[in-house]
Amino acid sequence: MDNRSFRKKLEQLAEDAGNPLDRDYLERIRSLNPEINAFTEYKTALENPSNGPLKNIPFAVKDNMHAVGFRTTCGSRILQDYESPYDATVIRRLKKAGALLVGKTNMDEFAMGSSTEHSVQGVTKNPWDTERISGGSSGGSASAVSAALVPFALGSDTGGSIRQPAALCGTVGFKPTYGVVSRFGLTAFASSLDQIGPLTRCVEDARTIMSIIAGEDSRDATTLKGTRSLFLRKLEPSIAGKKFAVPIEILEYEGLEKRVYDSFMDMVERIRQEGGIVDEVSIPSVKYVVAVYYLIAPAEASSNLARYEGARFGFSDPSPNYAALVKHTREKGFGEEVKRRILLGTFTLSSAYYEAYYSKALRVRRLLNKELSDIFSQYNYLINPTCPVIAPKIGEITDPLVFYLMDIYTIAANLSGLPAASVPSCSVNKMPVGFQIVGPRMKDMEVLDLAAAVESISPFFEHGLAPIPERWSA
Ligand code: GLN
Repeated sequence: MDNRSFRKKLEQLAEDAGNPLDRDYLERIRSLNPEINAFTEYKTALENPSNGPLKNIPFAVKDNMHAVGFRTTCGSRILQDYESPYDATVIRRLKKAGALLVGKTNMDEFAMGSSTEHSVQGVTKNPWDTERISGGSSGGSASAVSAALVPFALGSDTGGSIRQPAALCGTVGFKPTYGVVSRFGLTAFASSLDQIGPLTRCVEDARTIMSIIAGEDSRDATTLKGTRSLFLRKLEPSIAGKKFAVPIEILEYEGLEKRVYDSFMDMVERIRQEGGIVDEVSIPSVKYVVAVYYLIAPAEASSNLARYEGARFGFSDPSPNYAALVKHTREKGFGEEVKRRILLGTFTLSSAYYEAYYSKALRVRRLLNKELSDIFSQYNYLINPTCPVIAPKIGEITDPLVFYLMDIYTIAANLSGLPAASVPSCSVNKMPVGFQIVGPRMKDMEVLDLAAAVESISPFFEHGLAPIPERWSA
């Protein structure tokens, strides 16, 4: 774990080159970003007078979080030139800890997507194979960390957008319990599901970042008290005696690629060898999570995105009256997928269909909560592959439904607000595969404990540092 942590790496860099710590990263960004398009914007002159535990450590954030001096485009034409006058709470906390904000990372427009192909700033590529997608919607953050352009980045996760790109790019990704990290300054997509979390090269770095960004915030009423202190202890990686549940509905899903299934079962075997008790269980409502999510998330989005009407934010299409202004601004400002979601959300919230769709989705969400809490009364963790496939080729998937189904393994943690991590478990045809760990509410550190244990037995890390940085610097 040690030689992947940014602390160690930065110490080495300082020793090797006698350079300011950030210079090495800036050089990598300059030379590699044109090829992978992870950043929407970055700065070359950085300074932060604050002294703290992250002194001089560079980082990037997904372009849906506000930061002074940067645009917040959300990958959308409608916000293409929008600059926020304030920092998101997470950014304020990281700056206070001494970290250097290098830039903003690319994303699917308004975080709606699974591939970072749907951004006005172009496609972000996967550093392992630049013909493939980086995943999404935090694909820029995952790609930047994977190619070692920054030691860590923040992403947002509404239905899997931290964990899925982390899995496809071979990084660690962590979505905290809903309410552990403040959403103040995060552009809202689906407010009851959105959470910010770190993408890192090892689990210890994820813990470090959480120990800085977590905690109550008076500017976000959904934040929970006392959560920062959860992350202040050392990781305690352990598997022996722990009980693991694997939902059969997940293993039986026909879209699960055989090689991803095999790699997951290989990790299950390793967990058993370490003394873990792994059982197959049934969580019947897992079959409905994609349907439920794609009713609830668009419904919330259709309300959150109503604020973009051309009169107050970003892009505005000059029109003779207000109705025309709104119509033309949205027509030209939003991309296809965002329009699809707004239409879907408006439809399901309409009085004629509310009962049939939205209200029913909320009932299934409650049922899922109940089934999951029953599981957690008997098991410590729920485990499954993070994503049913390895990163597809860019342009290969055109049917939105195929993308929606890729979220099948990550959505439940959002619907129930549970902490979940993705750790690289192996590579298949030289492409990374992620292993997902979900825990009960507020057991975020226990999820990271297990993530660290999985990391230590994962064949992905057998040779120490993941091969990407070496390959890129060669
Ligand atoms: N892929 C999912 C979607 O398109 C999840 C997105 C997210 O987590 N932001 O809605």
